[in-house]
Amino acid sequence: MNAVPAFAIQSLRPRILERRARLEAAAEALPADYVNDLLCEIDAALERIDAGTFGLCEVCHDTIEAARLEQNPMVRFCLDHLSGEQRRAHEQDLELATRIQSRLLPPREVMAAGWETHYRYEPAGAVGGDYCELIPEGEGTGLFFAVGDVAGKGVAASLLMTHLNAILRSLLSLELPLAEVVARANRLFCESTSASHYATLACGRTTADGVELCNAGHCRPLILRGGGAERVDPTGLPLGLFCNGRYTTRQIPLTRGDSLVLYSDGITEAQDPQDNDYDEERLIRALQAQPGADARAMAGAVLSDVVRFRAARPQHDDITLLIVRRR
Ligand SMILES: [Zn+2]
Repeated sequence: MNAVPAFAIQSLRPRILERRARLEAAAEALPADYVNDLLCEIDAALERIDAGTFGLCEVCHDTIEAARLEQNPMVRFCLDHLSGEQRRAHEQDLELATRIQSRLLPPREVMAAGWETHYRYEPAGAVGGDYCELIPEGEGTGLFFAVGDVAGKGVAASLLMTHLNAILRSLLSLELPLAEVVARANRLFCESTSASHYATLACGRTTADGVELCNAGHCRPLILRGGGAERVDPTGLPLGLFCNGRYTTRQIPLTRGDSLVLYSDGITEAQDPQDNDYDEERLIRALQAQPGADARAMAGAVLSDVVRFRAARPQHDDITLLIVRRR
C-alpha cells in the first residue's frame, strides 16, 4: 500500500471544499436527492482525508492513479476496480480521446519543395502523450515539424497533448521567429496547466540551407549527414516549467540525402527482456544501416529494429519517430 503524498492531499482539500460551496449555492435549483448524493460523496472524500485513507482504492487499498485524483478528488477505486458502469464510462472517454487524437495527427507524408518526411506514431495504450506535427509553410516551400512528449500517461496526457497542439497551431499562424514561437508556447502552457504538467518538445523549420531547430528539453534530435551522426543538445528547458523560460535555436545546414531524425524516449528507452535500453547508439546504428534509403524506409527499419530488440517485452511507452530528409 502506497500512501498518497500529504502535500498532494492538502492541495486537493480546498478544491473539494470549493466544490461543496458551489454545490450548496446551486442546491435550490437542483433535485434534492441529487444534491444529497453529491454532498455525501464530497463529505466522504473529506472524511477519507481526515482518516488517512484518501487516494487509496477501496478494493485493493493500492494508490489510485494520481492523474485521476487530480481530475476528480472524489474517485474511490483504482482503474482495475471500477464498477461496470464506471468502466464503461472510462472506456467511452478513452474511445473519444483516441478519436480526437487521431484527427490531430498530420497527414502521412507531407512534402515541401526539396523535402520528404515520414513519421510513425505508436501509442502504448489507446491514447498517447506524444506529440507529432508537420505543417507546410510558405505556400508549400517550407515545413514546420515537431515531436514532443507530455509528462504523464493515458487520457490526461493525451488531452494535454491536444492542448499543446492547439497552442502551437495558433502561434504558427502568427508567422513569428521559431524561438519566439517556442517561448510563447511555453508561457501559454505554463499559464494554462497545473504546475505538475510539462512537455518536452523538439521542433523546427526547413530553411534555404537546411533546418532551424529548437530543442526544449527533448531527447536529442539526430542529424545524419556525410555518413556521420550528430546529436542536437537541448537549447532550452521543457515547456511548462518556468513562465519566463528562454529558448534559442540552431541553424543546421543539410544537403541532398541528409536527414534530421526526431523521436521520443519510447524508442531509446524501449527495454529488452534483460532490462537493457535500446538507447541512442543503437538508434544511430539502425539509421546508418540504411544509407540512401528514403524517409519511409528509414523509419520502417528503426521500428522493426525496436520490435526485434524488445523481443517478448511489451511496449511500455508511446513511440514517435519523425524523419525529415532533404531530397
Ligand atoms: Zn484497486
